[in-house]
Amino acid sequence: MRRANAVSTIPLQNQPLRASSRESGAEEDREKRRLRVLLDMDGVIADFEGGFLNKYRERFPSEPFIPLEDRRGFWVSAQYGDMRRDLCEKAISIWESKNFFLELEPLPGGVEAVKEMSKMENTDVFICTSPIKHYSYCPFEKYAWIEKHLGPEFLEKIILTKDKTIVTGDILIDDKPEILGVEPSPSWEHVLFTACHNKHLPPNTSQRRLLSWADDWRGLLESKRQ
Ligand SMILES: [Mg+2]
Repeated sequence: MRRANAVSTIPLQNQPLRASSRESGAEEDREKRRLRVLLDMDGVIADFEGGFLNKYRERFPSEPFIPLEDRRGFWVSAQYGDMRRDLCEKAISIWESKNFFLELEPLPGGVEAVKEMSKMENTDVFICTSPIKHYSYCPFEKYAWIEKHLGPEFLEKIILTKDKTIVTGDILIDDKPEILGVEPSPSWEHVLFTACHNKHLPPNTSQRRLLSWADDWRGLLESKRQ
């Protein structure tokens, strides 16, 4: 006998199917309330700018450099190229080098915050990061960095993508001021993580900021659960 027929013979008030569908409905609601947090890596949990400047000065000690307080604009190579054309390539050579991404220092409080939020109830945390096109070292080293600083369990939480707009989530914490891609209406709210290159941008009332990991990130997450 087909299952559908068997169920239809039980009186309505006794149908276990109705009770279980109510339960699964409640479960679904709980699942729906889960908060999905997407975290950028460079400039949010890993100190790309600091790591770049140290290695650039080490490798090119006689070349001019841009102190972090003078950084403007998202692209490091563009600002170096504006200073002197050939410095653009020199800047790029730094993050294309072996061990650049692996040796980045964590940004203060970032690792602790990620670990804490990943343990929060009804919260899913993913690291959503864009590898550079020169792929010899970067993707491997990003995985190795995550394993080293966040632990092997986070290796399952890595999303490598050049286009973050196609990833769904409730919130994306990222230091890039404008995140564009093929999806014109991404599901996440982009919260701008303050970095040396974006802190001078004029206030934007349509974009919230997280000033650092000492800022109220817990309140920010809570606001998305409302
Ligand atoms: Mg970034």
